[in-house]
Amino acid sequence: MYSVQGWIRVSLLDYPDHLCSTLFIAGCNFRCPYCHNKDLINKNGSLEQIAWGEIVEWLDANRRMIDGVCFTGGEPTLCADLESMIDDIKRLNLKVKLDTNGTNPQMLKRLLGLKLLDFVAMDIKAPLRKYSMVCRTNVDLQNIKESVEIIKSSAPRYEFRTTFHPSLLSIEDFYQICEWLRGAPTYVIQNCRTGDNLDPFFSRLSPASYEDVQDIASLCRKYFANFSLRGFTNPLRKPVGSFHRV
Ligand code: SF4
Repeated sequence: MYSVQGWIRVSLLDYPDHLCSTLFIAGCNFRCPYCHNKDLINKNGSLEQIAWGEIVEWLDANRRMIDGVCFTGGEPTLCADLESMIDDIKRLNLKVKLDTNGTNPQMLKRLLGLKLLDFVAMDIKAPLRKYSMVCRTNVDLQNIKESVEIIKSSAPRYEFRTTFHPSLLSIEDFYQICEWLRGAPTYVIQNCRTGDNLDPFFSRLSPASYEDVQDIASLCRKYFANFSLRGFTNPLRKPVGSFHRV
C-alpha cells in the first residue's frame, strides 16, 4: 500500500546535479544500526501518511522549479504502489531517482525496463560476507548481487555508496567491495551520522574523521573514476560533500 511519510519539497542534496523533491517511503527490511530514519522504517510508525494527491498537485505547480523527484526510504521498492507513483511523476515530465538497498532486483529490473528511472543509487552495506551482520537481518545475498548487475547493465545513471563507521567496516572490507564493484564508474563513501541512530549505542559514538578515511579513500580512487567522500570534514578545507540522510 502507498505510504509516503516524509517529504522535502526542494532538495539540493538528494539528486546529483539536480534540484529535486524528495519523498520518503515508509518501511524497510534492514535494521542498520546507524539508521537515522527509525520512525520511518517501521511501517506502522509514528509518522503520518502524506496524501499522494497533495504531492502531485504541488509537483505539477512547481515543475519548472525542480528537475526531478527522489524516492528514498526506508526501502522504496517494498511499496507496491511505487510503479504507479513513478508513472505519475513521469507524466509531469520530471526525472526520477531511486534510492535502494538492492533487496528487490525484480522491481529494479521492471522499472528500468520500462524506462521509469533516470538515476539509481544503491547502498552497498558491506562486503557480501558481512552483509547480514551490518544490516542486522538475514540478507538474501543473491538479490544483492543481482541488483548490482542489473544497475550496472541498465541504469542510465547510477552510483553505489557505502556508509562508513570504523566499528563496522575496515580497509580490508573496502578492498573486497572495490573488487566486487570493479567497472562501476561512481562510488561514494558517506560518513555515518551519529546522534539519533536506530541502535542507541551508535548515538554515543563519534563519527569517523577525515583522517580515519584517507587510506580507504586512496584505495577506492584506484578503482573508480568518480570517487567521492560525503559528510567528512577536511580540517584544511570546507566540509567535503554532505551527509546522506541515513
Ligand atoms: S539505513 Fe537505509 S537500509 Fe538501513 S535500516 Fe535505515 S532505511 Fe533501511
